[in-house]
Amino acid sequence: MESTEKLHDTSKLSRKEFLNLTGRSLAGAAGSIAIAPLLSTSAYGQERKAALSPPSQIPSDVDKPIVLEEWKSDADQQANPTPTPLPPSRRIGYAVVGLGHLALEEILPALSNCKKSRLAALVSGSPEKLKKVAAQYGIGAESCYTYQTFDQIKNNKEVDVIYIVLPNGLHKEYVIRGAKTGKHILCEKPLANTSEECREMISECFKAQVKLMVAYRIHYQPHNRKLREILQKKEFDIPKFLEAHNSQSTANADHWRHKKALAGGGALPDIGLYCLNTTRFVLGEEPVEVFAYQYSTPGNPLFREVEELVSWQMRFPSGVIASCATDYDVHESRRYRVNCRKGWINIEQAYAYKGQRLTTSKADGKMKRSEEIMLAENNQFGEEMDHFSDCIINNKKPFTPGEEGLQDHIIMEAIYQSAKEGRPVKINGIASVNNWKGPEPEFL
Ligand code: NAD
Repeated sequence: MESTEKLHDTSKLSRKEFLNLTGRSLAGAAGSIAIAPLLSTSAYGQERKAALSPPSQIPSDVDKPIVLEEWKSDADQQANPTPTPLPPSRRIGYAVVGLGHLALEEILPALSNCKKSRLAALVSGSPEKLKKVAAQYGIGAESCYTYQTFDQIKNNKEVDVIYIVLPNGLHKEYVIRGAKTGKHILCEKPLANTSEECREMISECFKAQVKLMVAYRIHYQPHNRKLREILQKKEFDIPKFLEAHNSQSTANADHWRHKKALAGGGALPDIGLYCLNTTRFVLGEEPVEVFAYQYSTPGNPLFREVEELVSWQMRFPSGVIASCATDYDVHESRRYRVNCRKGWINIEQAYAYKGQRLTTSKADGKMKRSEEIMLAENNQFGEEMDHFSDCIINNKKPFTPGEEGLQDHIIMEAIYQSAKEGRPVKINGIASVNNWKGPEPEFL
């Protein structure tokens, strides 16, 4: 029984100590009685393994992960900590406004799997859709609103956040009306149609003392975050130039994405924005100048009001040049590569909802080494909502606040101006460093 008692003692170790202990044991540091059962044959080990269950660490704090008994060797990829959802009553309640593609296909399913966030209310202009979605997600009639009754969300104690998932041209109206209800605001990208609208929205949220976050999901996506970390650590020395494009095909000229008043622009604010925002995010710098071309196929009804293609270059203070392109009439392509002095880092499907592939290349003497870094995928939508909830619970500024969206609009306006005037345009952004952001998101 002596060894069993020692095994029980592991329950008093921290996760790090426990992992160190098992890691050492599996690396071959035999001799410790406590670790013997992990190496033992089944007949010998059955009784002792039973002593290791239930799990080795169950913190009394509900916010801390349960640490399960370790059984894999460090020859294999380690699992993430066990999910640590807050009890439903402590999760932040979201009212989702606009039940279109993004809300129904991504946001509502993601909310069901969130750890700090939950669906609390729905807003739609379609009574049939509202009724059906409310039934599917268990939302009572008292928490279903139309665009006319939207302002009554003020009286709904279940709602902490209003999440605007409407066409871009409606963001300003609903962000400002939302702020006046006293609820915090999460708004889809692009934040608005113009930088002027963004300034007004930021100011109204500030006046109402509510938080405003832009739903820039890439900031919460592991492959993109890993690439940024590689750059920050200068693993391939300094970056020199970056190539990025985000393209897809569209077919419905009557859709709001092809109406200037509702979309603000064409491919650039919708999908080109990912090239712009992600480049700023991974480089950690703000561009000082842009030079752009713009093109729309003559006679194509899709591009009567908004542009098809924008190609632009951005110059950064460190000397890095980024070359970006976006198009609404080519087969889907969402990728970027950062070319550094001693290697490159590439992400395929970089801006997609899933399926990212992170690869690198560098020289090693007479060899060239290519590596694929495999990371566990997360749900970007869930992570970004949980980050915002965390900011509300702990009263922090979001990592992607309204100012982050404003900065992109300032740069997009310079891109359009450059394409129109056929010359480079200097950027007069809101700051030359990332001094408007909240702390880095914490992932549990
Ligand atoms: P969608 O057209 O599928 O949905 C928009 C919803 O708004 C629909 O339910 C529509 O009925 C409603 N609506 C209300 N008033 C409207 C009006 N006057 N005209 C048109 N529709 C009206 O669009 P979507 O793809 O869900 O995009 C919504 C928002 O989400 C946009 O801002 C878009 O840029 C953003 N978006 C973000 C991502 C992302 O990955 N973060 C992906 C797609 C879309």
